[in-house]
Amino acid sequence: MITLDDVRKWDENDELNEYKSEFFLKEDSIYMDGNSLGLLSRRSESALQQSLNDWKEHGIEGWTQADEPWYYMSEKLGRMTAPLLGASPEQVINTGSITTNLHQLLATFYNPEKGRTKIIGDELNFPSDIYAVKSQMALHHLDPEEHFIQIASADGYTLKEEDIIAQMKDDVALLLLPSVLYRSGQLLDMKALTHEAHKHGILVLFDLAHSIGAVPHQLDEWEVDFAVWCTYKYLNSGPGGTGGLYVNRRHLGTHPGLAGWFSSDKEKQFDMDHELTPSSSAGAFQIGTPHILSSAPLLGSLEMLLEAGIEGIRKKSLALTQLFMDLVHQELKGFGFTLRNPVEKERRGGHVCLVHEEAASLCKALKSEGVIPDYRSPNVIRLAPVAFHTSYEDVFNVVRILKEIMQKEKHKSFKNERDIIA
Ligand SMILES: *Cc1c(COP(=O)(O)O)cnc(C)c1O
Repeated sequence: MITLDDVRKWDENDELNEYKSEFFLKEDSIYMDGNSLGLLSRRSESALQQSLNDWKEHGIEGWTQADEPWYYMSEKLGRMTAPLLGASPEQVINTGSITTNLHQLLATFYNPEKGRTKIIGDELNFPSDIYAVKSQMALHHLDPEEHFIQIASADGYTLKEEDIIAQMKDDVALLLLPSVLYRSGQLLDMKALTHEAHKHGILVLFDLAHSIGAVPHQLDEWEVDFAVWCTYKYLNSGPGGTGGLYVNRRHLGTHPGLAGWFSSDKEKQFDMDHELTPSSSAGAFQIGTPHILSSAPLLGSLEMLLEAGIEGIRKKSLALTQLFMDLVHQELKGFGFTLRNPVEKERRGGHVCLVHEEAASLCKALKSEGVIPDYRSPNVIRLAPVAFHTSYEDVFNVVRILKEIMQKEKHKSFKNERDIIA
């Protein structure tokens, strides 16, 4: 039996406790949606303010004279992100979005040739990734029905690594999978999948949207070929914050499929030559002018993440999701909830996946009680206890509030259908 006293004791001993005050949290509200949009921190606010001041002060000279010179900011953020990936810095660049970075990497490295045309994906991935694959296939005049293998899920929530491995054949060019499935929060075994794919000469691309900033990675050690991610989820860079990509060093030097002047070697860029000399680093996969004001907040949030350390964040995140599951079992029996995230530590991402027939109306009821959850059609409530700013007591309170909603049937006064954004 877990009590309020227990969780308060854990909060007192929590080494990340001090970071709660770094975030703009609303009083009487518990934010459980950091896996959709991370919250603003004081450090991100001042980093953005600094960029505005630099613009005010320097105008065009900000490209070289700003406190954090804009011309080199993407590379600087790449260097800061590298430790979260287990990667050396020249392979990482802050640029684009998940979807545009996927297009760039597919345009560059997906070169279907006779006998090797297929891409393996899965049927649970986020739609944007699927659209990107299908449209890149269309550009090669290939029919996705024939060339795109989407691994099926037996339970509708999780994937089995052995099912994926079973499809790895010598006619497959590339494997594209999420590190953590966006609905169930299942963490895939990236190391084993990469190892098996390489046995068949298959390139491996992971979408780290739901793992970066929540789970440590060892991309170099695992020999992953490519990765993409966004920064507005667990990296707290703000709405539309600039994303990032990783290209393993053995692929650096490949001419970008989608080239632009920011793909250039930085020394040569302003020669304005019509023959591109691409950067020798992952910077080659940038296209146009970097989005400085959408990147600057990341300077602050990454500084804080590196200071706190990803290992400590993962440790607390696992303890918070474990507490969530324990409390669901303890308090919510008989109310029709099923936990659909994997139970094992090594297969869990940063959120729990609570399934209920009335998930949509329950989410509306939670919001009216000051809890911000995340609804995914048709029946999923995602709850992300972000380690940086969630206390053990917060988790305790969310479950307590949910129990009260069920007992008093408060959700019955809301429609069980999704809003325009959900
Ligand atoms: C959030 C998310 C996206 C969003 O892509 P953007 O290009 O950043 O809008 C794509 N794929 C996955 C798996 C996601 O979780």
